[in-house]
Amino acid sequence: MACAFCELVRTGEARWVTREPDAVAFAPLPADEFAPGHTLVVPRRHSVGLHDADERDVVAVAALVRRVSRAMLSALGATGVVVLNASGPNSGQTVAHLHVHVVPRAGTTTRRRCHGCGSGPPGAFPNRHSTYWPPSCGRRRAATQGETARRGTA
Ligand SMILES: [Zn+2]
Repeated sequence: MACAFCELVRTGEARWVTREPDAVAFAPLPADEFAPGHTLVVPRRHSVGLHDADERDVVAVAALVRRVSRAMLSALGATGVVVLNASGPNSGQTVAHLHVHVVPRAGTTTRRRCHGCGSGPPGAFPNRHSTYWPPSCGRRRAATQGETARRGTA
C-alpha cells in the first residue's frame, strides 16, 4: 500500500510550510486541522514511527519541529505550542509514516470544547482527540450514571 506522506513528498503537492533536505513541514488538510496554523513535520525518508526511524531523521524532525514552533510564536502570535506524535499500533497514529503535529496555542485556544456534547467555545482545541467532558455535559452525566449502574455502586 502506498504511503500518503511518501507520495506527498514525492509529488510535491501539499500546503508547504518549508521543505528541507531531510524533513518537510506542511499544513494538514483543512478538515484535519486541530487549530489554525496546525503543521505536520515529517522526515522525507519513510519510517512508520519513532521506533523504526533512522536517528538522523528523528534529529532532523526534532530540529524542524523546534523551528516551526519558534515561527508560530513570532509569526502567528502563539503563546505556546502543543507537539504530538503517535507511533505504532494502538497509539492513535492515523498515517503510518513518522509525523509530528505542531499546534500553535494562544489564550483563546486553551479553553476546551466538550467531547461529549460539543458545547464550548467555537474553534477550541483540542476537541477531536480530547476526552474532556465538563461536569455540565449531559452525556457525561448519563455515561457516569450508566457506569455506576453497571458497577452496582452509587
Ligand atoms: Zn512514507
